[in-house]
Amino acid sequence: MTSTAVKNAEKQYKQGLEWVNRDNPGYGVIINRDTCISKLGCRNCIEFCPGDLIYFENGKPDVKFLDECWYCGICATVCGPRAISYIFPEQILKGEPKKTN
Ligand code: SF4
Ligand code: SF4
Repeated sequence: MTSTAVKNAEKQYKQGLEWVNRDNPGYGVIINRDTCISKLGCRNCIEFCPGDLIYFENGKPDVKFLDECWYCGICATVCGPRAISYIFPEQILKGEPKKTN
């Protein structure tokens, strides 16, 4: 891994931790609003999310219905600048069935 890639990974990880601390569910899909290129017309995450869970919020994409996300990772895969990362809920890591309301 190049030093730039390591720095980017460290930055992404730090942002993930900040996000977790801010919104506090301890898991989720993290969209880096600084590196997102929606201002250039990108809508990939919105168009490809199979659950139709991502919408624009103040000019940037946001996961509106996180409870319905099944962490398929498609949004992160189709994001050119790699602005999306995700932290799996503990429940998924343990292989437990997803809770339904
Ligand atoms: S991980 Fe999958 S379901 Fe969740 S927001 Fe991304 S594309 Fe949608
Ligand atoms: S795919 Fe990435 S760059 Fe494109 S709108 Fe979504 S978060 Fe932004």
